[in-house]
Amino acid sequence: MAYIIKGETGDWEVVIGLEVHAQVISASKLFSGASTTFGSDPNSNVAFVDAAMPGMLPVINAVAVEQAVRTGLGLKAKINHRSVFARKNYFYADLPQGYQISQFDQPIVGEGILVLDMPDGSSRAVGIERLHLEQDAGKSIHDIHPTKSFIDLNRAGVTLMEIVSKPDMRSPDEAGAYLKKLRSIMRYLGTCDGNMEEGSMRCDANVSVRPVGSTELRTRCEIKNVNSMRFVMQAIEFEAKRHVDVYENGGKIDQETRQYDSAKGETRTMRSKEFAHDYRYFPDPDLLPLVFDDAYVASIKATLPELPDDKKERFISQYCLTPYDAGVLVGEKENADFYEKVAAQSGDWKLANSWVSNNLFAVLNARNLSIAESPISADDLSKLITLIKNDTISNRLAKDVFEIMLETGKAPDVIVEERGMKQITDTGALDKAIDDILAANADKVAQVSAGKEALIGWFVGQVMKATQGKANPALCQELLKKKLAQ
Ligand code: MN
Repeated sequence: MAYIIKGETGDWEVVIGLEVHAQVISASKLFSGASTTFGSDPNSNVAFVDAAMPGMLPVINAVAVEQAVRTGLGLKAKINHRSVFARKNYFYADLPQGYQISQFDQPIVGEGILVLDMPDGSSRAVGIERLHLEQDAGKSIHDIHPTKSFIDLNRAGVTLMEIVSKPDMRSPDEAGAYLKKLRSIMRYLGTCDGNMEEGSMRCDANVSVRPVGSTELRTRCEIKNVNSMRFVMQAIEFEAKRHVDVYENGGKIDQETRQYDSAKGETRTMRSKEFAHDYRYFPDPDLLPLVFDDAYVASIKATLPELPDDKKERFISQYCLTPYDAGVLVGEKENADFYEKVAAQSGDWKLANSWVSNNLFAVLNARNLSIAESPISADDLSKLITLIKNDTISNRLAKDVFEIMLETGKAPDVIVEERGMKQITDTGALDKAIDDILAANADKVAQVSAGKEALIGWFVGQVMKATQGKANPALCQELLKKKLAQ
């Protein structure tokens, strides 16, 4: 479904491009040996080069380079065998060098592609413009002292990948799906933990609007540093509507940087937009161009895991899952692994999907738990499915057993044994229950004889009730039909 903003003068569509700053997983910083551990004491992870002491020279971290190439490969992007570090000059108290070492016109990774999995099961490709390596800045802290600001340089020099999309997204939902997919890929690759709350993944959104049917790109505004997926989507929605209002009232949009106020649900001006030439980019004279060969890229490629898109395709063909179901399972690698374990051990891919994706994920979401913290193990969930398959318990009773497993942490076979929840599959035991019900409902029996076959379902329900759900529904139906036909 296209996302359209209805205006007085016509319909508008939104054009969105995202820039993501992703902190690279690496023990040390991009150009120094200082630690990157989160939550250390302020200014304890700072090497001389991070503090820009005179005469200190940057030395490239090989792991950071490898992680950027790995991410580029995961985005099916062009890997540039020669890239150049450039100085991006600006003044800020938390940037001791007076410039950020970044990459400008020759980034390490070029154009790539990212496939969005939309909630309706459809997918859509979004272009990746580039990925480059750069340093993070330090952190200014303004809330410790009434008149002083403090600077923490622990983050100064930490490796970031700036990943820039093409302006290919057309709705807040697509922007959300983009961030989710990018995070999923980086987590599979082990290149970024994607933790937006801790700031290891930060998003800037470029937003503009245009009349539906037009292909022009109008002036965009950049919403800076939004720290949750939900807020990114809300900010885009607000900003797009603001643009439509401005245009419809005969105004014009100024290119500027804005910030999102999540409490008020609105964006507001931060500063007028700076342009690339304001930064006086030039190649960093302290660093040689970064050059590597095919063999290096091939060696990294050889270590890539199966990525979400491939896993999804495999789940669809191997387990006959719908694209939507497969998409839900592969979002996190640990979820996919859990599912495959249950599918293999229970031997039933379909039941495994419904118990993992519907029942278990609902519980995990409600309790805000990851699959690693699941109160039910893959082994126990497999056992539960096996009990259903070999007719020990009915589907209905299985739901009760599942609840008891959540409460007690006990294995399903133990619960069934302890509580006498075994399904009644013995004809003799059911006979009496059925006879009692037939005797007590002579009127309905007569109606069935008169041709009202649908009432058999009602009788099955009564038997289930009388046996506390323990009757085998199929057997029950068979016996009822036989008796009612007499
Ligand atoms: Mn940047």
